[in-house]
Amino acid sequence: MSAAAAAEAAAAEPARPAGGRAELYPARWWRPLPDGRLQCDLCPRHCRLREGQRGFCFVRRRTGDLIELTAYGRSTGVCLDPVEKKPLNHVHPGSSVLSFGTAGCNLSCKFCQNWEISTARSVEVLSVDAPPERIAAQAVAVGARAVAFTYNDPVVFAEYAIDTARACHERGLLAYAVSAGWICEQPALELFGAVDAANIDLKGFTEEFYRKITGARLKDVQDTLVRVRERTSTWLELTTLLIPGLNDSPAEIGRLAAWVAGELGADTPLHLTAFHPAHRMLDRPPTPLTTLRRARRAALEAGLHFVYLGNVRDEEGATTLCPGCGEPVIVRRGYTVETYALDESGCCRHCGRRLPGLFDADDPGGSEAALPWRLAPTGW
Ligand code: SF4
Repeated sequence: MSAAAAAEAAAAEPARPAGGRAELYPARWWRPLPDGRLQCDLCPRHCRLREGQRGFCFVRRRTGDLIELTAYGRSTGVCLDPVEKKPLNHVHPGSSVLSFGTAGCNLSCKFCQNWEISTARSVEVLSVDAPPERIAAQAVAVGARAVAFTYNDPVVFAEYAIDTARACHERGLLAYAVSAGWICEQPALELFGAVDAANIDLKGFTEEFYRKITGARLKDVQDTLVRVRERTSTWLELTTLLIPGLNDSPAEIGRLAAWVAGELGADTPLHLTAFHPAHRMLDRPPTPLTTLRRARRAALEAGLHFVYLGNVRDEEGATTLCPGCGEPVIVRRGYTVETYALDESGCCRHCGRRLPGLFDADDPGGSEAALPWRLAPTGW
């Protein structure tokens, strides 16, 4: 097959061989270049690959006249989590989510909390076969409400995530994505359009921070966020990890929050989470609670209605107040929902104002959210 024909074939929906995982799964979103290289157009790195080369993310490799996704149908493990841990605070509170991931990442965050998965190349070798239908079936078997793509960025395994979201929907499950949002336009619309909710990082609010600390670009991520908000029906929440001395000033958080309120809407929940030294950033202290509280005040003053604190115990920063009457409608302790004062359509029981997010009659804020299950990959 010529490179042009292969690109055309890959741009269409690739057929998945019976039995789940393909030995060679043709990737989408790439094109041949005049100099013979193949350019990946999934994320803004646009890796240009010669025969046998892998992209920066490691899980996309040129093989002959196409690029393959080597992580398709390969999971590095699963775990049953409360949805609050993703974090998604306005999505079926108290429900359980089957979380899973693959290997590889297209960013290079110095502070990565999951660096063993995102960077370790041996992880891919240790992955187990987990075709989309099997993940969905496992989620049903353990009583999960949804499947979340979370341990590494689903951008790098977008085809697999999209197929898994479809398999979930066929079984009446929901699908969530947790991502850094550094992805090109068309795959962004397909990936985030395929899931019901997404938590996307807005890791800082300067290009310098993004370039030096994450290897990505702020403007690209902002474009993704606006696309998800304006061109999909996916529920969107944001996370910013506050790193002492790098992105934690109230002025920067105030600018970030003002942009979110103006471009994405004041009802977009923002999670400000505490940094803990990890990976290649061991020289910074954990984020003090006072810093998190100060940043939360700045974000609220900038116009956001829902600003939460994560990776710390803080009752105020974990509570959802009704924007109509100011009463606490969801009170959380850790990842457990303690008080739930919404009706079956997500309206405040005190004043009737609807809380933005995904809520329904199956949302009691039940205690099963705290199940300490951990499923071994060998259980597939
Ligand atoms: S998805 Fe991977 S291979 Fe494609 S451009 Fe991004 S880092 Fe490179």
